[in-house]
Amino acid sequence: MNQTQAMNPAFPKIPLLDLKSEVSELKPQLLRAMEDVLDEGAFIMGNQVKQLEREAAEYLGCKHAIALNSGTDALVIALLAAGIGPGDEVITTPFTFFATAEAISRVQAVPVFADVDPLTYNLDLAGLAELITPRTKAIIPVHLFGHPLNMDRLMEIAADYELFVIEDAAQAFGAETGGRKAGTIGHIGCYSFFPSKNLGAYGDGGMLVTDDPQLAETAAMLRTHGSKRKYYNECVGFNSRLDELQAAILRVKLPYLEAWNEERRLAASRYDELLQGLQELALPAECPNGKAVFHQYTVRALNGRRDELLAGLAAVGVSTMVYYPVPVHKLPVYVAGSPSLPVAERLSQEVLSLPIWPKIGADVQRYVAEQIKSLID
Ligand SMILES: *Cc1c(COP(=O)(O)O)cnc(C)c1O
Repeated sequence: MNQTQAMNPAFPKIPLLDLKSEVSELKPQLLRAMEDVLDEGAFIMGNQVKQLEREAAEYLGCKHAIALNSGTDALVIALLAAGIGPGDEVITTPFTFFATAEAISRVQAVPVFADVDPLTYNLDLAGLAELITPRTKAIIPVHLFGHPLNMDRLMEIAADYELFVIEDAAQAFGAETGGRKAGTIGHIGCYSFFPSKNLGAYGDGGMLVTDDPQLAETAAMLRTHGSKRKYYNECVGFNSRLDELQAAILRVKLPYLEAWNEERRLAASRYDELLQGLQELALPAECPNGKAVFHQYTVRALNGRRDELLAGLAAVGVSTMVYYPVPVHKLPVYVAGSPSLPVAERLSQEVLSLPIWPKIGADVQRYVAEQIKSLID
């Protein structure tokens, strides 16, 4: 380890994501918004949630938005609203956060894992049709790291086999593909407002969007104990409401999202430039016909050098993270009888996510890049 660099007072420690700068930038507005909620005295299913739903639907360009407790609940409620249940098969990616598959198992359906594309890290559509059986009911693509999947091709396959499409856009609020927002192209889209997501609350939160009024009504009913009308419960649902304080916070942040995502894209292109030409490093894929929002900037360290790079960066104060060290089909819960999915398995050995947030700044990125260059070729 290079002591001089580790001690460099200009870079005490570079986090993976700096939420503090965002909070301090917006603090007066956030406090005012929270105070309004306290003064209003309505904390659940009040005006803030209604407004947020309206504003999010308008931003995304979809008809219905239903604010929920988490992105995980959005996936579970989406599956139930689509009528997916015991014995049904749902095709998804193994290279994602566990919640994508967990939601499928939660409704007693069976996750069927398809391998991913080594460049985009998203579902590889080429092999998808082979996995479709008479029990297949849906596909859940994930726009991983904010990189939108090519939805046109996926929707064609889904139409051919009459499958339902639920987009897991938890990491891709604001991303675009073919001129439309990721999450609004499938039958249902799911977002997460987990604090680290591009549009993050200061607690848990999520959202489900759809253009279908029937699906929207069912999802809204499932959100509140299976009732459309208070105390007239029609089915067994959940308590999965977003609270007013989180909705008020998200309403302060939503108008900034487009600019923040642009700043993330700029930061990503700066990394691209700083890190180009290294033999042992593969950079994130380009996004033709779309707009990635770089929830993560994830590189691949080749030749088995990932863990060495990770340790070397940690030693000079650069935080990194491996998303995801074990592909979902190899997690203890699913490993029995799981297929071999070589690309996802290889990616989990190679990927490394670098520090990124809207206001990261060129100096910090240059430091990160210099450290990477001194560690690998
Ligand atoms: C964060 C995330 C979720 C779950 O969202 P929560 O709000 O944490 O429940 C689901 N899928 C993906 C891809 C995620 O990144």
